[in-house]
Amino acid sequence: MANCLFCSIVAGDIASTPVLSTELAYAFEDINPAAPVHVLVVPREHITDAAALLPDHGEALSAVLQAAQQAAVMKGIAHSGYRLVFNVGEDSGNSVPHLHLHVLGGRSMAWPPG
Ligand code: 5GP
Ligand code: ZN
Repeated sequence: MANCLFCSIVAGDIASTPVLSTELAYAFEDINPAAPVHVLVVPREHITDAAALLPDHGEALSAVLQAAQQAAVMKGIAHSGYRLVFNVGEDSGNSVPHLHLHVLGGRSMAWPPG
């Protein structure tokens, strides 16, 4: 999709630090990490956000989740645990309108914080 930041990253037109690449998904380092491990996983296909998911997107969504599993293993957080986040809409702080799964780990993220 034209003028989409993450479509441009998937296409290689904007540089990113790759974590892993599969047929349907791409995982890369978040530019402004919120945890010691912060990977973003996107479908190669443009899907706006989790609220725009359709039944036809099942394969792409599964690929995103499988890439997140694999990224967690590669980044060494599969056993210590991690948080998976899809932000949707204004109150979540969603800033890039291309579906992306945050993979956050490497520190305790007990929730609610206390
Ligand atoms: P959101 O707030 O939309 O759920 O998450 C967007 C994420 O994308 C943020 O964590 C932000 O740091 C990250 N981000 C924004 N622009 C870029 C970029 O150009 N490259 C990379 N690697 N991450 C980005
Ligand atoms: Zn896009």
